[in-house]
Amino acid sequence: METLILSSDYRDIQTAANIIKTGGIVAMPTETVYGLAADALNGKAVRKIFKAKGRPMDNPLIVHISDISQIYTLVREFPKRAQLLADNFWPGPLTIILPKSDRIPDEVSAGLDTVAVRFPSHPTALRLISLSSPLAAPSANLSGSPSPTTAGHVCDDMNGRIDAIIDGGDCDVGVESTVITLAEDPPRLLRPGGITVEQLRSVIGEVIIDNAVTAPLAKGEKAASPGMKYKHYAPEAEVILLDGNNEKFRQYVNDNGRDGDAVLCYNEDLGTLKLPCIPIGSENDTETQAHRLFSVLRETDKLNITRVFAHCPPTDGVGLAVYNRMIRASGFQIIKL
Ligand code: AMP
Ligand code: MG
Repeated sequence: METLILSSDYRDIQTAANIIKTGGIVAMPTETVYGLAADALNGKAVRKIFKAKGRPMDNPLIVHISDISQIYTLVREFPKRAQLLADNFWPGPLTIILPKSDRIPDEVSAGLDTVAVRFPSHPTALRLISLSSPLAAPSANLSGSPSPTTAGHVCDDMNGRIDAIIDGGDCDVGVESTVITLAEDPPRLLRPGGITVEQLRSVIGEVIIDNAVTAPLAKGEKAASPGMKYKHYAPEAEVILLDGNNEKFRQYVNDNGRDGDAVLCYNEDLGTLKLPCIPIGSENDTETQAHRLFSVLRETDKLNITRVFAHCPPTDGVGLAVYNRMIRASGFQIIKL
């Protein structure tokens, strides 16, 4: 199949909307990462997303809306806490899981009784939704690889596999949305993202952090969010996280580095390391690190690197989102220094 490359002009978005309305699939920019979208109420169209990504069918998708009124047809109930979260964080990088209505096809919810809903803030995504329908969309990468934050990344993975790509430039946040389930009490954070757990607690009080956010699933443990089961976000190179202060980090890298290795380093490390360096941002600027994370992971593929050392990120604020992606990209290889 030939993949159309579209701009964010009104007419091009209209073309994309027509593709969606006739059952096709289109990659669209959002403020988090690029999404691969289909009409959320068309199960047959949604199946194409799983095929194009090579995504296991038991991993559900997020439904994107462009107007709060659309949610009432997607969920069975909209509790007070959902209203509070929506008032404070929508439109934006937060996904809320609620009991699903009968209108949600099984493909979207992967057979679960719940549906994940997000109201994004990106103008192109909003326009595409309002010209077509609520859109089911996971990240627009091949299953398992780093999420795309530019149209070029999408093209690398999806050219020839999907109907169209809307080029909307760089994604702002750079990591996928925060996912919280309100289908149980107390609410549980399933995936950290641009909206921090501290922000969620300040609005609705108690929020539990699911074990799988910071640790591998124990043998036999069931994933609360099916997406948490799989190795994720991994470039071709082996990623090794180093947990220790900057001095120990530099020492370790300089003592153990060899040909074919590189470092995802902080800006402050530049000039202190003997290996090729790919800076990910300043040490305390976790927002920039989140913004650059997937892009630098993809860069290592282009440079033919075999091993990548990286700092083990902090676990507060947006750091938790970076940490969560990095431990999966590394397959949980963390060396305590
Ligand atoms: P992505 O495919 O990268 O957009 O990620 C979507 C995430 O939302 C995955 O981790 C899914 O497992 C999670 N998700 C979507 N719907 C549900 C649901 N109904 N219950 C639990 N997790 C969900
Ligand atoms: Mg994904």
